[in-house]
Amino acid sequence: MSIEGFPVDIGVVYEGERIRKHEMYAEWGGVKQKYKFELVRVRPLEAVEDGKVQVIGPDIKDLPEGAKAQPLGILVEVAGEQLKEEMEGVIERRIHDFCNYIEGFMHLNQRYDIWLRLSKKSFKKGLNSFTWIGKALCRLFKSELPIIEKIQVTFITDLEKVKEMFDEALKIYEARDARVRGLKDEEVDAFYGCTLCQSFAPTHVCVITPQRYSNCGAISWLDARIAAQIDPKGPLFKIEKGDCLDPVLGEWSGVNKTVKEKSLGEVERVCLYSAFTYPHTSCGCFECAAFYIPEVDGLGIVHRGFAGNTVIGLPFTTIADSTAGGRQVPGFHGLSFEYMRSPKFLQADGGWERVVWMPSEAKERVKGFVPDEILDKIATEKDVSNVEELKKWLKEKGHPIVARWKEEEAVEEEKLPEEAAPAAVPAAPGAPVVAVPQAAAVPTAGGYQLVLNLPMPAAAGGPTYKIILKDVKIIAKKMILKKITEEEKKKK
Ligand code: ZN
Repeated sequence: MSIEGFPVDIGVVYEGERIRKHEMYAEWGGVKQKYKFELVRVRPLEAVEDGKVQVIGPDIKDLPEGAKAQPLGILVEVAGEQLKEEMEGVIERRIHDFCNYIEGFMHLNQRYDIWLRLSKKSFKKGLNSFTWIGKALCRLFKSELPIIEKIQVTFITDLEKVKEMFDEALKIYEARDARVRGLKDEEVDAFYGCTLCQSFAPTHVCVITPQRYSNCGAISWLDARIAAQIDPKGPLFKIEKGDCLDPVLGEWSGVNKTVKEKSLGEVERVCLYSAFTYPHTSCGCFECAAFYIPEVDGLGIVHRGFAGNTVIGLPFTTIADSTAGGRQVPGFHGLSFEYMRSPKFLQADGGWERVVWMPSEAKERVKGFVPDEILDKIATEKDVSNVEELKKWLKEKGHPIVARWKEEEAVEEEKLPEEAAPAAVPAAPGAPVVAVPQAAAVPTAGGYQLVLNLPMPAAAGGPTYKIILKDVKIIAKKMILKKITEEEKKKK
């Protein structure tokens, strides 16, 4: 794709490009800026001036190098004979990949969560105005979605003006989400999938059903259905449900088949309503993350906009990192706000009865959908600041999770420590001198029970030792597995 005089390259190859702090010229949105959004509106044909790009407030070139967390609203207005208001959500979601096609320009997340950066390199090449970005968007939208006949783009960077439109945007998002509520997964004939995030998370496939919104919170089942119709070559596609293998976990044969195909064999099974059993993968743009707190056997939930530390002492970013990238990580789970409003929300794990902590702001946003008898029993950052306090709080408030502790303690007495441990691995004759220990971690009420099986080399007698560590809490930022060379072995 080329636009006359465009200062940098535009192409799919630039998708997935990250711009680090030291490489960036300027930044808009992100956690430190509340006022940011992107919005698509369908207008009558006569109300849109095709190709017009406007900047309201300071342009890129007006910012000093290194400008951080600037306010930004991106308003894309489109018109076309066949365009309908219901299509706004899916058109809007494409702002993400189209921005990322621009060399040295990074776009993350969606709706009110956007985060953009421009590299110093591209700025130096002449990408110093939103007018260029707007021109690229106009061109990309029209070529990829021919249903759009006219398009105009407005960038709002004036804080007061962004604030004004911000509340309106939130209302529009809410109205979109509300449209799908009431539709049930059992009642529809097909689900939809989205691979928009594969540029950042290559094995991630979002499965979108009426009762399980996309991780990003920007695509409903209705949106996905429209997208698959108007843009059959785009990132959204139909999934035949196949047989329902488990209605509580939310496992369907058709979902498994499609996810396996689209994840290139990486993910073979997905249960839509569990954070523990073959959980849905997490991309990178999820609005919230659920995290398991073994000490209380409950789930915490944290949203992207929460800047503090969660009750386990880790911020959103660290929790997000432990599940992002298209992986299936039991107990760490990317999800959207709208999924929390679904009756199917983590139903296999106990639903809201399993949730023990969330930031007050997040709680406020979903409170109409949490059963009344549980709402006040979920602690926030205002109530507790560590797991010990949380435990006390849950007991005092009589949170339903407390009943699970008793059951678990009973089970623990019966089974542990021997039976729950995986079988020891006998040392094979001629086993390598340095064996990788086999490890298994079993969550318990007080942490993890970690079992390491260490086969000893035949030369040392060959027995297998079992090390059992109880109530373990481990935080590892990195794991390095290193093969030891013959020479290093001799030194030892
Ligand atoms: Zn995503």
